[in-house]
Amino acid sequence: MRGRLVASWLWLLALPALAADYAGPLFDTHLHYNVEAWNGQQGPHPLADVLARMQRNGVRAIVANSRTNDGTKLLAASPETRAAGVAVVPFIRLYRNRDDYTNWFRDPSIYAMVEEEFARGTQGGPYRGIGEFHLYDSANADGPVARQLMQFAERHGLAVLAHVDDVAVDKLMAHAPGARLVWAHTGIGGAPVARVQALLERYPRLVGELSYRPGLTCENGTLCPDWDALLRQHPTRFVIGSDTWVNQRWSAYDLLMQEYRRWLGALPAPLAQRIAWDNAAALFGVPTPP
Ligand SMILES: [Zn+2]
Repeated sequence: MRGRLVASWLWLLALPALAADYAGPLFDTHLHYNVEAWNGQQGPHPLADVLARMQRNGVRAIVANSRTNDGTKLLAASPETRAAGVAVVPFIRLYRNRDDYTNWFRDPSIYAMVEEEFARGTQGGPYRGIGEFHLYDSANADGPVARQLMQFAERHGLAVLAHVDDVAVDKLMAHAPGARLVWAHTGIGGAPVARVQALLERYPRLVGELSYRPGLTCENGTLCPDWDALLRQHPTRFVIGSDTWVNQRWSAYDLLMQEYRRWLGALPAPLAQRIAWDNAAALFGVPTPP
């Protein structure tokens, strides 16, 4: 018993020291400020609360999208957001309510709504993207409105944030090969790493967002070996996000950002900074904070 304990203690000594967590700026590229977070007015997560969460976590820019668009507009237009040092990249949400999640791809009124919203813009500047949208069945990526929206995005230089499987990535890119597709969760269903790699190689404008990605991290919260290799191989193709789709994710915001900082810290510093900040900043033309 005692011998075993000593042996395990000696084994610990042989472990390499854990790298320090990444300490630079974060660009949260998958953020929702949905109506239930602030109820159109105050709580449970009023503007001051969400800005404080970003600030204390070193989140210096966000892609904002929310059901309704009012949350995004509030973030984009408020002097408090600028005072907090958070740059906002607004995206147009497709959903008026929960029913729209499963019907948007064939509902022409959604396309009309997106067109109108794009023309209107926000007080903080024009919209820069569309989404997040969801496709739970990849066949629906061929729905008429899905096709129209991809082509709309391509025409107007808008990015598209899409929660879809790998088959739908092929379909969406076929509608609009010049569109910028940000793949939410890089396949939440766990598309194999080799398949993710093949898609990145086939579509130079495809970017992987890493929230909720199954199999991403292993022991000690560091990257699993296959993901470590993929990120090193494609240093300019990945970004991070919180996906605050329910209020519980706002409560966990500190933890989510700490988890990113942990695995980013084990990567070479320039690569960590790319994934944490530079890749998204380059996509949306956001200057790096001093
Ligand atoms: Zn989301």
